[in-house]
Amino acid sequence: GLDLVDVGHRYRDKTVLHNVNLNIEPGEFVTFLGPSGVGKSTLLRIIAGLEQPTQGAVVPTGASADGPISRMMFQEDRLLPWRSVIDNVQLGTRRQEARSRELLREVGLAGREKDWPAELSGGQRQRVALARALLHQPHVLLLDEPFGALDAITRVTMQQLLERVLAEQPRTVLLVTHDVEEALILSDRVLLLTDQGITRDLRIEHSRPRHRGDAQLAAWKEEL
Ligand code: ATP
Ligand code: MG
Repeated sequence: GLDLVDVGHRYRDKTVLHNVNLNIEPGEFVTFLGPSGVGKSTLLRIIAGLEQPTQGAVVPTGASADGPISRMMFQEDRLLPWRSVIDNVQLGTRRQEARSRELLREVGLAGREKDWPAELSGGQRQRVALARALLHQPHVLLLDEPFGALDAITRVTMQQLLERVLAEQPRTVLLVTHDVEEALILSDRVLLLTDQGITRDLRIEHSRPRHRGDAQLAAWKEEL
C-alpha cells in the first residue's frame, strides 16, 4: 500500500496540490476524478517518484516497501517509434523475451511482436504500454487516463482486459480518468480531487457496479 502524508506541490508560480493525505490499502483499486489542471497527473508522477513533492512525502507500506514500487502508464502511449513492439515492452530493462511475449499474448497482441508501433491502432498501442507497465510486476500500477483517447468500444475492451489481468495478478492500482462510468465500474474507491484537496472519498462495494441496478449507479454518480 501507500501513505500520502501532507503532500503538496508548487510549480514555479503556482500551487497545484496541498495537504493531500491518503492511506491506500494493498490491493485497493483507487480512482481519482477531478477537473482538468487540478494536479492529477502531477500527483501520479509524485507517487511514481518521477517528481519530488515540494511538501510532504509518499511512504510505501507493507510489501511495497521493498521491491519495485510502481510503474506508470501515461496519458499518451510514449512508445518509441523506432523500436519494435516487443522491444518497447522490455524497454529500459534487461531483455525478458519470454515474459514479454506472454504479456503481449495476455493483452491480445500475439503475433505482433516484431511490428512497429506505427503499424498498430491507438488501442493496440495502449495495450503495448499496459504490457510494458506490467512487465516489472510493480506493487502499484499507476494509470493516467490510459484509455482516454480511445473510442467507446475499444475503451470497454481495454477495461475488461485490465480487469482480467488484475484478477490473475492482483495489485494496487491508482487510476486517473475523466470517465465517471469507468471509475465506478473498475474501482473499490473513488476520490474527487479539487482545488480544496480530496473532497469526496466514496467506497464502491466489491460486487462491481456493473452488476448493479441503474438506481445504485445513479446514486453514486450523484455523490460525485
Ligand atoms: P488533466 O485532467 O488536464 O490531465 P491534471 O489534473 O492531470 O489535468 P496536471 O497535469 O497535474 O493536471 O497539471 C496541474 C497544473 O500544473 C496545470 O495548471 C499545469 O499547467 C501545471 N503544470 C503541470 N506540469 C507543470 C510543469 N512541469 N511546470 C509548470 N507547471 C506545470
Ligand atoms: Mg493529467
